[in-house]
Amino acid sequence: MRRITVAKGDGIGPEIMDATLSIIKAAGAQIEIDEIEVGEKVYLSGNTSGIAKESWDIIRRNKIFLKAPITTPQGGGYKSLNVTTRKFLGLYANIRPCMSLHPFVSTKHPKMDIVIVRENEEDLYAGIEHQQTDEVVQCLKLISRPGCEKIVRYAFEYAKQHGRKKVTCFTKDNIMKQTDGLFHEVFDEIAKEYPDIENEHWIIDIGAAKMADTPEAFDVIVMPNLYGDVLSDVAAQIAGSVGLAGSANIGEECAMFEAIHGSAPRRAGQNMANPSGLLQGAIQMLTHIGQVKVAEKVQNAWLKTIEEGIHTYDIYKEGVSTQKVGTKEFAEAVIRNLGSVPTRLKPVHFSEEKSLVLPKYQRRQPKKKDLVGVDLFVHWGGMEADKLAEMIRPIEKEGVQLNMITNRGIKVYPDGFPETFCTDHWRCRFKPTEGKTLLKTDIIELLQQAEEKGIDVIKTENLYAFDGKPAYSLGQGQ
Ligand code: NAD
Repeated sequence: MRRITVAKGDGIGPEIMDATLSIIKAAGAQIEIDEIEVGEKVYLSGNTSGIAKESWDIIRRNKIFLKAPITTPQGGGYKSLNVTTRKFLGLYANIRPCMSLHPFVSTKHPKMDIVIVRENEEDLYAGIEHQQTDEVVQCLKLISRPGCEKIVRYAFEYAKQHGRKKVTCFTKDNIMKQTDGLFHEVFDEIAKEYPDIENEHWIIDIGAAKMADTPEAFDVIVMPNLYGDVLSDVAAQIAGSVGLAGSANIGEECAMFEAIHGSAPRRAGQNMANPSGLLQGAIQMLTHIGQVKVAEKVQNAWLKTIEEGIHTYDIYKEGVSTQKVGTKEFAEAVIRNLGSVPTRLKPVHFSEEKSLVLPKYQRRQPKKKDLVGVDLFVHWGGMEADKLAEMIRPIEKEGVQLNMITNRGIKVYPDGFPETFCTDHWRCRFKPTEGKTLLKTDIIELLQQAEEKGIDVIKTENLYAFDGKPAYSLGQGQ
């Protein structure tokens, strides 16, 4: 018996949760439930996080959380409970299977059956943003080796457990050689440990286009947070079934399972909503907690019900569907089909009766790290880089020289083009001269000199080489 936390949420939440629980219990799920209240009522009681402290204790104790959609009130500084939960509980992997149910649910992609594995904690979603000059703001894109290793390994282990043949990685490492480059590098390293699973890498732009056009070319796709956020919705939509998709948020200790849709307040309380999205989340939960055979039984009964044409209003189609049913009746039909397998849709077969446990991250031996330069970012309202260079060069010191200036990454000094548009945000790169070692105290002296000469340095970024390999980007055109 496994204790889980359940939140019935808002809008259609309670109805689809009741339907989902009735199905998985009838299938023999060994679960005991602690119910907590989250969402609108909690928000409106003055708690801007949408969840009470005591509820966190229950979630953390049970570790498994099945959550119905909630309504986040507009305005008033209410924080998204989903984002908070992911970050607090370290739910690093977001898993979204997107499968078409042709010919029973309309789609342009009858053979589509992909799983998007999205990194869920880092990348641009670390939410570290600053305004630095009048004209320029920045958002830090942080990618870590542990983050990459966990998500990539999860993708391969998931593929192995679910009998999937290929894992594809999407990045933009032709441009972001450090951040996306690390994700790709880790992908290549870990792929070698799974010789039975095919692996490939696509540049995200053409990869996304291919996925939208020919999704059957893919199986499992793993990607950093932002790309995954966008493409998991695209994948669900082109499968023809946003309302049918569930999603799992997995961490080392805890996991949260849900439907991908919202609380559909206009449909609430009318026994109309389709419980399939949440049921798909619950099926992922059952697999995760090792009740794989129950998950398999529910999935096959659900597929059977869909192919019998027993459909809720959102997927009901004259000529394809045979019966329009409400939430409860749909759940009853799935329960009747428990033990049956679909004959036209492909039945599922989940083989291993164990949950997916990843090895703990092992920190590697640190590499030899050498300071090889520094970028001083300067706020300056002029237009000509040569003029800025004239102002900046006097801060050079013995053995440390201005190497180049870029504006939005494009080299504008030396030998810039007058056509290049410049903002008020300049990166001035200083490097030690031949044979000289740069010290942190040199940087402090540069900053001191800049301050004395009225140069507005808004941030510095140290340039390092790791094991002798430069680990920073060059100026575009350098
Ligand atoms: P929504 O997903 O609730 O609804 C979009 C459309 O899909 C509506 O027409 C709705 O009737 C239909 N729909 C959604 N789920 C359905 C189902 N199970 N069966 C049948 N039809 C269904 O999106 P929205 O209207 O943009 O958002 C409503 C509320 O949900 C907002 O407060 C939003 O913040 C919240 N929301 C919550 C979550 C979550 O808790 N994970 C996710 C998205 C939106």
